[in-house]
Amino acid sequence: MKSPYLEIDLSKIINNAIKLQEMLSDKQINITFITKGVLANLDIIKAVQKAGIKYFGDSRIDNIKKVKLNLPNINYTLIRIPRLSELDDVVEYCDYSLQSELDIIKELDKRAQEKNKIHNIILMVDVGDLREGVLVADVLPTIKEILKLDNIKLSGIGTNVGCYRSIMPSVENTQILVDLKHKIKDECYYEIEMISGGSTCTTRLFFNNQLNPEINFLRIGEAILLGEDSTNDIKINGFEDDAFILSAEIVELKNKPSLPIGQKGKDAFGNENEYIDYGAIDRAILAIGRQDVIIEALEPLDDQIKILGGSSDHMILDVTKSSTTYNLGDCISFRCCYSAMLTSMASPYVTKIFK
Ligand SMILES: *Cc1c(COP(=O)(O)O)cnc(C)c1O
Repeated sequence: MKSPYLEIDLSKIINNAIKLQEMLSDKQINITFITKGVLANLDIIKAVQKAGIKYFGDSRIDNIKKVKLNLPNINYTLIRIPRLSELDDVVEYCDYSLQSELDIIKELDKRAQEKNKIHNIILMVDVGDLREGVLVADVLPTIKEILKLDNIKLSGIGTNVGCYRSIMPSVENTQILVDLKHKIKDECYYEIEMISGGSTCTTRLFFNNQLNPEINFLRIGEAILLGEDSTNDIKINGFEDDAFILSAEIVELKNKPSLPIGQKGKDAFGNENEYIDYGAIDRAILAIGRQDVIIEALEPLDDQIKILGGSSDHMILDVTKSSTTYNLGDCISFRCCYSAMLTSMASPYVTKIFK
């Protein structure tokens, strides 16, 4: 097997999907499974479909196009607010899209008109994380304009937290959406069908019985793929957390000093590092680097191994304390956290193996 390789255990992903789907559907909450972290991989999408999930979402129109060519009837939401230059594709390939700019929505209406289609949108509301979304005070005026458009259907409102400014989902910030839904009904006589309440980090409110019952959609990637909620820094109880295992080969194994010798500059990525002398150590160099994966998001399966750092093509480990005897040519394996999964899935140098 050509290393480095990423082993993907589909049965673990299916187990997580079935579990979450059962828990959420009990409370009439739909999952939109977010595929951007796995490049909209078809094997994974088909596995998640088997678990009964019907809605899918991705940030990249190219990913959605690819899936639709293979699975034309799949329901897909574009979850990154679109570029002006991709609006024709949005109308053509997406069942829903998240939106936050009235001018873009108006243009989308024109494109939908040209194609004789109605396009469904979910208006994003910024409840504090300061990524995408209309400010709360602007929601009603914006919606009044949207409701004038013939070829746009306002299907829902949504919000995103926990991604950019790491604001946590809370009872208060999800309540904002529910209040808005009622205001829209009272002032615009319009009933919103969907409240897309958040991502994996919002499941914490659900597990604590704090999620407002009017939230009826969650956009989920990490919980199903990795069984964890990294914004809240928790593993999800009873979920499989090791569906993605990355392995790379040892190309140097030597006992060397821990303190570099010579005058210190910046490393290959512009960082200045501090070093502590803790004597000579057994070091392994792996043939994988920052070009392939965000190494900070890897956890060695052998927990006596310490990741010391890396450069574009090398990763350096301290294996002194390990009870395993490693040899040149052996592979060392790591559990992937989200950004390691995302980058190694995207690296053309990493072989993907489905189990
Ligand atoms: C990535 C993303 C998600 C999914 O987040 P997870 O943490 O993987 O559940 C949901 N919504 C939007 C807008 C996203 O960009």
